[in-house]
Amino acid sequence: MFTFLLTNDDGYFSEGIRALRSALKQIGRVVCVAPDRNLSGVGHSLTFNSPLRIRRIEEDFWTVIGGTPADCIHFGYYLILEGKKPHMVCSGINDGPNLGEDITYSGTVSGAMEGRILGIPSIAFSVFGREDIDFTQVADVAKQVVIKALEEGMPEDAYLNVNIPNLRREEIKGFLITKQGRRSYKEKVLKLSDPQGKPIYWITAEQFGWMLEEGTDYWAVYHGYVSITPLQLDMTNYRALEELKSSWKL
Ligand SMILES: [Mg+2]
Repeated sequence: MFTFLLTNDDGYFSEGIRALRSALKQIGRVVCVAPDRNLSGVGHSLTFNSPLRIRRIEEDFWTVIGGTPADCIHFGYYLILEGKKPHMVCSGINDGPNLGEDITYSGTVSGAMEGRILGIPSIAFSVFGREDIDFTQVADVAKQVVIKALEEGMPEDAYLNVNIPNLRREEIKGFLITKQGRRSYKEKVLKLSDPQGKPIYWITAEQFGWMLEEGTDYWAVYHGYVSITPLQLDMTNYRALEELKSSWKL
């Protein structure tokens, strides 16, 4: 029987994680450890300056009070599974996409990143769409990717960032292996007033968007395909490494 360690960044109560938990339970044991609040945008943050508490929701389902997705994977692996590696770490399903440079902010992707650091095959799942999401259907597609990864295996130096279009199963055109795209956001800092008239600020986007380049994550989901992007922990820019070595002549 397969064992999965599951987290997310939207919180343990979110529809996405509950749907993925149900789908994965059809093929194995799912140990679910998730934040107690919505921590979207928290990235790969790990809490080591304050204590954490854990609360059991039901069997194999826990929440870490104030814990980040990376914290949750730590708890799941070291505490609940007592250091025994699960077959896979899954993160999500995130309510909204994780495309292009956005993945650097993503707690969902960071949950999978943490799994990879611990030496476990790991996949992050997000849905491309914001409204009327049928998470049961999206989770069913996610399960297909998980089964494929279990059957075929995945490279040891990679983890996967999967974005699934919010379409009916029969409308999804297929699966594409993609590269990370690039965003083209119009961002802004919104200035508002608190009830006392003092200024408060909100970081937001005027318009969300990504470059529609063929072969990218965004191109795939925009055209109705499931996007599967292999990511790596090694952030070294090898082209720049050679360029700096030869041009700087240190
Ligand atoms: Mg999120």
